[in-house]
Formats: sequence, C-alpha cells, structure tokens
Amino acid sequence: MTTPKSVAIIGAGMAGLTAAAHLVQAGGRVTLFDKGRKPGGRMATRFADGFMFNHGCQFASARDETFRSLLTAHNAAVWPATGDKYSGAPSMAALAAALAEGLTIHQATHVSFLNRQSSQWRLSLRDANNTPPSLIEPNGVLSPPFDAVILAIPAPQAAALLGATAHPFANALANVHLAPCWALLLGFADAPVGPDILKPTDGPLRWIARENSRPGAAPNPVTYTAHASAPWSTEHLEMPADSVITALSNAFTQATGITTPATYARAHRWRYALADIPLGQDSLWDPQLRLGVCGDWCLAGKLEAAYLSGRSLGIKLTT
Ligand SMILES: Cc1cc2nc3c(=O)[nH]c(=O)nc-3n(C[C@H](O)[C@H](O)[C@H](O)COP(=O)(O)OP(=O)(O)OC[C@H]3O[C@@H](n4cnc5c(N)ncnc54)[C@H](O)[C@@H]3O)c2cc1C
Repeated sequence: MTTPKSVAIIGAGMAGLTAAAHLVQAGGRVTLFDKGRKPGGRMATRFADGFMFNHGCQFASARDETFRSLLTAHNAAVWPATGDKYSGAPSMAALAAALAEGLTIHQATHVSFLNRQSSQWRLSLRDANNTPPSLIEPNGVLSPPFDAVILAIPAPQAAALLGATAHPFANALANVHLAPCWALLLGFADAPVGPDILKPTDGPLRWIARENSRPGAAPNPVTYTAHASAPWSTEHLEMPADSVITALSNAFTQATGITTPATYARAHRWRYALADIPLGQDSLWDPQLRLGVCGDWCLAGKLEAAYLSGRSLGIKLTT
C-alpha cells in the first residue's frame, strides 16, 4: 500500500501520537485534532496551587522492547515504588509533551462529524470550550481535505462518529466496554508521613500513590492521587464531586492513617478509564475508504496497549 499523503488523526493520546510518529517517519503529512487543552489524553497531569497530580494513567508496564526504549527516550523512568513500571519523570504530561514534539496538533478542537467528499475526508470541527452550542453550524467548521482519517479515541466516542457515517466498524465496537474511574486528588501544605503506594483490597479505593515518590518529583509539597474501584465508580458515576471527595477522603484516611487535613481536595471523573472488555484486534483499517481506528481498548486497558495499537495501525497504512 502507498502511504496516504495527508492523514487526519482524531485524538492525541498515546495511540494517536504513536500512529502519527510512525506515519511522519514514513513521509506522511499528519494533522492531529484533540479536544483537550494538552496532548496525552488519559496520560494526564494537573498542576494546581503548587501541587502536581497525575490523576489518569499511573504507570506503564513495558514488555515490548521498542516501547521501553521509547519511554526512556522521552522523559520517563522506572518508578522504584512500583518495581519495574515506568512513570513520566516526574509527570505523565512531560512524557506526552515529549512524544508530541514536532507533530502538528490542534488542541481544544472537537471533531463532531466525519464528512466524505470526493474520495477525501473533511472533519467538522468546533472549539471544545468556547463555542456555545446554539452558534454551531449543523456541520461545524470544515477542516481541509485529508486522504485518510484515523480515530484514536475511546470506543464509545469512536462508535458515535462511525455510527453517524453508517460505517460498519461502529458495529464491531459495540461490545467493547471501558469502565469509569473516580480519582481523588489531595494536596497537603503540612507534610504528613505516609506510604508511597498502597493497593487497598476493601473499601472504595484500589490505588493510592504519593506523587512525590515518582522519578524526578520534588519531595514537597506532599501530594496524593487515589483511584476508586471500577464497581464503586460505576455505582457512583453521577454522584456530585463534593460527595465523592468526602467518601473517598474517608477511605483514604482509613487506608493510610493520614489524618492531616488536605489543603487541596478535588475529584476527577474519568467516564472512560480502563477497557475491561477489549476489541481483541490490534486496530481496524478500511483500505477502501482509508479509515482507521486504534486505541488502548483494542487490546487492553493499558498505556502499552495504546502504543501497540497505534503502532499496528501506522504499519497497516505504510506497508
Ligand atoms: C484513572 C486511570 C488510571 C489508569 N492507570 C493506568 C496504569 O496504571 N497503567 C496503564 O498502563 N494504563 C493506565 N490507564 C490507561 C491508560 O491511560 C490508557 O490505556 C491510555 O492512556 C489510552 O491512550 P489512548 O491514546 O488509547 O486514548 P486517550 O488517552 O483517551 O486519548 C484519546 C484522546 O482523544 C481525544 N478525543 C476524544 N474524542 C474526541 C473528539 N471527538 N474530537 C477530538 N478529540 C477527541 C481525548 O481528548 C483524548 O485526548 C489508566 C487510565 C485512567 C483513566
């Protein structure tokens, strides 16, 4: 197959960034569109009030040698508290920024429709944050034409875009499931002494990490990120954030023994966090329409799976 000359990639998380890098290396002209303000997707970091929270992906296991080399070449290092897992050093955002370097990415740009015109793709775009729905044209603002389009976004969002164009891939995605996750972000002005990592086996929390223990992180101020289990997050998906903070903070105190009040406490809801029913194929490619789909959920709910999926689609477009 000849590499498509121009490719639009929707989603600048690990899968989209990996596919983009592969295509650029093969001589393709690639433009990424992402509704978030920064690249990385679920590989995310929040900086607030002097605290740093990696509130999405915690770490990467790296069984694939090329993935391991990519991580170490792009601001990531082994996080000793996890054994042999990798973390952005010190933030997942630093890893994402390094992977995004040199790529053309339109951030804060939501793709709302895929238009097929004269054998090319044009995307309906709108500003993710600022455009009031009443002002959006039926088809939004149209992107320039592209030879190929890749969806590197969570399965339910990809299925919605594909379904609107009546593409059969929408049916293939119907059984994929991503569980939600409520994250608790706690910052402490008065440094409490607590564990680096805990994996509670009962109560709502399944993961507690002291951000300061990441490679390259400052020892202060003491900052914790905690994740609720999938069943608890599913059951409390629509709970107001204040109530989530209260419930998860109590569980945090019970698990860690830390009774010092947090000076910063927020909850973040990931509606699509971890794939518990994956597709079972590394990626999908329609050579007739030049339409591809990739993402962690093709293989597993892991950063490495997102990399392998993005790479597999990049290879399909260039060989
Ligand atoms: C709470 C949590 C904890 C996790 N912990 C771990 C862990 O410890 N280890 C591990 O390996 N993995 C973990 N993961 C999973 C890991 O984060 C994912 O596997 C990986 O980041 C997925 O990458 P992706 O590129 O497939 O998708 P994403 O990172 O979700 O990227 C998709 C991008 O598409 C954008 N987008 C979506 N729809 C549109 C649209 N219509 N228009 C424009 N842009 C759009 C989004 O803004 C996003 O930036 C965790 C995830 C979460 C949420």
